[in-house]
Amino acid sequence: MKLSFIFITTSLILLQSCMKGESADLVIHNASIHTMEDGAKTFEAIAIKDGKIIEVGSERQILNKYSAEKYIDAAGKDVYPGFTDAHGHIMSYARQKLSVDLVGCKSYDEMLVRIEKYQSKHNRAFIIGRGWDQSRWKGDEMPTNNRLNELFPDIPVCLFRIDGHALLANDYLIKKSDVLKKFAEDEELNQGGYIITQQAKKKHNTSIANQIGSIAFDIVAPTGVFVDNAMNPILDILPDFPKEELNAAILEVQHELFTYGVTGVHEAGLKRFEVELLEELMENESLPLNIYAMLSPTEKNIEFARKEGIYQNKSMLIRSFKVYGDGAMGSRGAFMKEVYSDSHEHQGYLTTSLKRMKEIATICEKVNYQMNTHAIGDSTNRIMLELYQDIYSVKPDHRWRIEHAQIVDPKDFQLFAKAGVFPSVQPTHATSDQGWVESRVGKERMGGAYAYRSLLNQFGMMAIGTDFPVELTNPFATIHSAVNRKNTEEIPGNGFLANESITFEQCLKGMTIWAAFAAFQENELGTLEKGKDATLVIFERPVAAPKEYQYNFANTTIIKGKIVYTVE
Ligand SMILES: [Zn+2]
Repeated sequence: MKLSFIFITTSLILLQSCMKGESADLVIHNASIHTMEDGAKTFEAIAIKDGKIIEVGSERQILNKYSAEKYIDAAGKDVYPGFTDAHGHIMSYARQKLSVDLVGCKSYDEMLVRIEKYQSKHNRAFIIGRGWDQSRWKGDEMPTNNRLNELFPDIPVCLFRIDGHALLANDYLIKKSDVLKKFAEDEELNQGGYIITQQAKKKHNTSIANQIGSIAFDIVAPTGVFVDNAMNPILDILPDFPKEELNAAILEVQHELFTYGVTGVHEAGLKRFEVELLEELMENESLPLNIYAMLSPTEKNIEFARKEGIYQNKSMLIRSFKVYGDGAMGSRGAFMKEVYSDSHEHQGYLTTSLKRMKEIATICEKVNYQMNTHAIGDSTNRIMLELYQDIYSVKPDHRWRIEHAQIVDPKDFQLFAKAGVFPSVQPTHATSDQGWVESRVGKERMGGAYAYRSLLNQFGMMAIGTDFPVELTNPFATIHSAVNRKNTEEIPGNGFLANESITFEQCLKGMTIWAAFAAFQENELGTLEKGKDATLVIFERPVAAPKEYQYNFANTTIIKGKIVYTVE
């Protein structure tokens, strides 16, 4: 008995001294660790030190080798690299949280009720709302501001459509911004946007009226709806929310992302002061979220890029410009090769002139930035693919991106491979637009709509995101849309354009390693390998893509070895 006791103690001592051999900050064990490396099996344990992964291996291997400050028993749960949302708008979402929330409104009336409720609570000097979508209302008719004017005759009201590409303003704001005159006089605004007028609305009896060159209040009454560049004079006078409120809302967005296991966002368009705002939050350690910032091509940002080049500060990396190639499909601003099927007066437009896009491309090439262009219509996609081809001959690994690639002419699919262009797509757009997109573009053009499988076959990788706040931040809705091509209400039963589905594995890669590639971050992020950032998530339920949508969420979210969120 005595001998045997000694033996056990010795082995314990031996084991302990062995454990003390290598120290770690954190060991997660009893887990099902998916490293997302090609062909890798799952592992049970992972050791983390100084924010980096030092080893991934079996339970015994890791527990025997390392002595950690902290251990997490994952109870067999799935562990993945932190998800990246490869196209989101943190700033817009933060502002949406402070605005009247119009998402999901089923009628104009409901919209008014929500505005009144909001205003009685906040009593703002300027009412900003976001999220209306007339395609959810009876008749798919663009709204007019008549009743808005009755309710709010002497305070500016600005209500953004869900996609951010159109807004409804009351007359007070229209006058205050002088948008009608400015729009009439500025050719650039004119070419990349339009104003919907009462007269035109009556004449064509369609939800969207003719594009018009010059109007004044007394000649043609505006309905209050301004699309794409026609919004600019209003945006110019829109006040921002107080900094403290904005900061709090940004952290709220971050928290929401963490609850879903999203640890990084490719932020699709920041102004200079917004970059500074985010950097301030990073400086005081309250914003650990990985942000890959795409800069809006403003003068200040271009100056910044020329001076700083590729720029990394804390958890923000800047090395790209985001350009708006065209408008949105919902408001017929997406630039199509042929007219819209449900409104032959409309073909859409480029919201940035070709000349300007070429200038931006030249700057990007010089400062070694990516050019990431919003392209929804098949014409814009074609134009950008051609423009991008030039960079391919100079830098084959440029990774320039097309954001959305929503309607692509199948003849142009091959250009993604030929020009080495990274598609950056949002699978929930497909399932959200399913009810009306075919009426916009017609049956034939649907062959190149939300064609994720075809695009993936060309380039071999794709970045996957949500475009929040246009869609929800929930990556599990993305997985369901991408793999089963259904929304979370299981519509349509047999999948929307189901032949363009991608696999579960591909979708996960699009949110991890391919997203990292799309931001030149594959050496730090995207897989759970030795030497990379310890940025990972323990999910509450098995991560999978069952035929029926399954809600899932993070149990524990870790960025660079630090727990940033854990379920209550
Ligand atoms: Zn976007």
